[in-house]
Amino acid sequence: MESTENLPIRKTAFMMFKHCEKQFEYFYSDKKAYTEYKQSSDIAPLRRGTIFHNACEDFFTKVRTLNNKTYENFRSCLPVITDKRDLLLNNWFDYYAQYEHNRGLEILNESLDFEHLFYPIETEMYVKMKDTIDRNGHIDAILNQPDGNLMIVEYKTGKSYNMEKTWAVTKMNAEIGYYVQILNKKKYFGDKKITHWKVINPTLREVWINRISPVSLRAVENTYAKMVDKILHKGQFVKNITPLCSYCQYMQPCFDEDYNA
Ligand code: SF4
Repeated sequence: MESTENLPIRKTAFMMFKHCEKQFEYFYSDKKAYTEYKQSSDIAPLRRGTIFHNACEDFFTKVRTLNNKTYENFRSCLPVITDKRDLLLNNWFDYYAQYEHNRGLEILNESLDFEHLFYPIETEMYVKMKDTIDRNGHIDAILNQPDGNLMIVEYKTGKSYNMEKTWAVTKMNAEIGYYVQILNKKKYFGDKKITHWKVINPTLREVWINRISPVSLRAVENTYAKMVDKILHKGQFVKNITPLCSYCQYMQPCFDEDYNA
């Protein structure tokens, strides 16, 4: 089956397949829902997440124009939220400004190239790749590293994105690995390699940096191949029944299937 006959695989769908193949099957087979899928901006955490992402994208453009790169000036490059529903965001911005300010100081203290290392080479980067079934995704930011390689940056505002937990790191390796495969295979950055990921979580006030392992990239390819095979050959999508099923929008038809079997 040609790639044009199947909708592209998005990172969200890829991660869904990893969690529950059956959930992915429901999602992917409803072409209208799949194409129009957008997380609701009425849900508070998602709304705040979107505001945070947008502000971080603008941040570096504004910082460039600063004469004095003090913390206060860094903070002024991020919004001050007055909407009572989203006051929490001010704490996030305080933390983010402090983190980026400290990172800038470290670059200067090490006498490294500030322009080269501080400013992302891409923000909100949309990537896509032709494949058996096409793949696409959206990367928050990409930074240069002192050794000439690159780092993917992800802004994660949910408490569940706690990289102290092994399962969260495994999940992040898959998420980032999905992007890395597209970037590497398409040679978006020539021979430069994406060797690390960084997760910034302003809710937990933590930043984690991790090396990307070839094992996690191979796991991404294996999962992609398995997913494609099931789509093309109408394979059986396996259910992963866990307590999380109570949050699944397909719980009713999914459980009815077993009931009626
Ligand atoms: S209810 Fe559970 S098993 Fe069924 S599709 Fe949803 S997540 Fe998968």
